[in-house]
Amino acid sequence: MKKRIVLASGNPGKIDEINRMLAGTSIEIVAQSEFGIDSAIEDKPTFIENALIKARHATKYCGLPAIADDSGLEVDILGGEPGVISSRYSGPDANDEKNIRKLLGNLEGLDGRDRSCRFRCTMVYLRHEFDPSPVIAQGTLDGIVHHTTQGTFGFGYDPIVWLEDRQCTLADLPPEEKNKISHRGNALRNLVGKLMHLVETDVT
Ligand code: IMP
Repeated sequence: MKKRIVLASGNPGKIDEINRMLAGTSIEIVAQSEFGIDSAIEDKPTFIENALIKARHATKYCGLPAIADDSGLEVDILGGEPGVISSRYSGPDANDEKNIRKLLGNLEGLDGRDRSCRFRCTMVYLRHEFDPSPVIAQGTLDGIVHHTTQGTFGFGYDPIVWLEDRQCTLADLPPEEKNKISHRGNALRNLVGKLMHLVETDVT
């Protein structure tokens, strides 16, 4: 029988993506919405704390082990801003367009390496609500904050994150291409590797 793990996310894309990576293994991912679990409040200053809050909330309410992630964009010259508040950067009525406008405004007059940034994703696996040793995986993707928006794919800050090695923005890449290099894809591959090791050694 497959081992079921709840994913603390309402995003069907994430569930499909993780299940595709786990095809052929003894693990199956189930969405937290299948258990009627609502979203947890993510109000901590670090990705890891917010991911743990989400995973703990999900495992508490359904009794299955849980996976959760938290991600955002870090701009070096801004001390890692917008970071954990990436989705709410421009205030209570934030949206992608306003967040981008605020970030570009904060970087006005800066060029080249002064605009270096990275997407970061932290993923956690909790065996149960009181698990004292969560499995933790990270993924990053480096870029430069572009001066203008470019590209039609993706969401969030994708249109202003310039990939130097590809000479395009993340929003220029179709989803399959983005998943191969993205912070989320990298974190997921790291986490799946660690989980498969735990399954083999029977300590999940
Ligand atoms: P979440 O934790 O995955 O929900 O991401 C929080 C916020 O970070 C999003 O609302 C976006 O503003 C930003 N973000 C995270 N991942 C991406 C990405 O892949 N592209 C663009 N923006 C992202």
